[in-house]
Amino acid sequence: MKIGFIGLGIMGRAMARNVLQGGYSLTVYDKFASCDEIKALGAAVVSSSREVAAASDLVITMLPNTPHVKEAILGPDGVLAGAQPGLIIVDMSSIAPAASKELHAEAQKRGVAMLDAPVSGGEPKAIDGTLAIMVGGDAAVFERAKPVLEKMGSSVVHVGEIGAGNVTKLANQIIVALNIAAVSEAFVLATKAGVSPEAVFNAIKGGLAGSTVMNAKVPMILAGDFKPGGRLELHTKDLLNVLETSRELHVSLPLTATCMEIIQSLICDGMSGYDHCAIVRYYEKLAQVEVRK
Ligand code: NAD
Repeated sequence: MKIGFIGLGIMGRAMARNVLQGGYSLTVYDKFASCDEIKALGAAVVSSSREVAAASDLVITMLPNTPHVKEAILGPDGVLAGAQPGLIIVDMSSIAPAASKELHAEAQKRGVAMLDAPVSGGEPKAIDGTLAIMVGGDAAVFERAKPVLEKMGSSVVHVGEIGAGNVTKLANQIIVALNIAAVSEAFVLATKAGVSPEAVFNAIKGGLAGSTVMNAKVPMILAGDFKPGGRLELHTKDLLNVLETSRELHVSLPLTATCMEIIQSLICDGMSGYDHCAIVRYYEKLAQVEVRK
């Protein structure tokens, strides 16, 4: 099976490398980022999404948000313009579930299959090939795509029809954002009270409050390292998709709405490109304290 990959940013470049090193031939395209690194490993680099589709049996997209995915798939130089019937598109970007359904309907008109397969785990797990991948779409198409997805993730779970992958990702992003906010409140309080935040981390990480989020983010906070990882501007995009979906469904999400406002104020302070663990900076500013080693 020949694989195409569109979007070689923080996540895509590591995921594409794992597909290539997993033994698949790979054709790649990125509108802005350099593809030199993956080219040196043996990938073919082309200059449009259309050309990626023409050279591939399965095309993966890993792009920031809905408009980018729409451009890459539906645009005049997009995947559908170059696709043969039978092509499989696997969109691994985190986008609105309603957009996944729209794109799937357009693809179907051309005899092209589509899955939505967003990921969790951030850059470290993208590099290790241990992402959690949540997949929506036809079960038979999922089975065909699964061996490729297993090159990028240690957990590949079919969660339902098209759009279900991105619904699952929205649920994931609520938990990650609120978990970072809870960790931030707790560590700012402890630091202000004069207790070493490193000691607090060592004392509680193995207990009920411990979490994957805490293990990943507290060492970064203690080091004052806010290099992304998951950028605040991408997390705000996910929470906007959460709140839009919750309005469509008449579901009230007060904690997510508050967290969204916290992130907005950080973006106003110029931190949109910081890792999402910079949520702690909001609480640090209010309490006039820094959670550092
Ligand atoms: P990124 O901005 O680093 O990479 C996106 C890439 O897409 C860029 O290289 C950009 O040049 C390219 N691009 C944009 N528009 C394009 C187009 N029309 N055609 C071709 N290429 C185009 O983003 P990322 O951090 O790799 O995230 C990608 C997706 O994965 C996002 O939806 C994000 O929410 C999700 N995600 C990110 C993380 C993380 O920790 N970074 C974790 C899980 C999921």
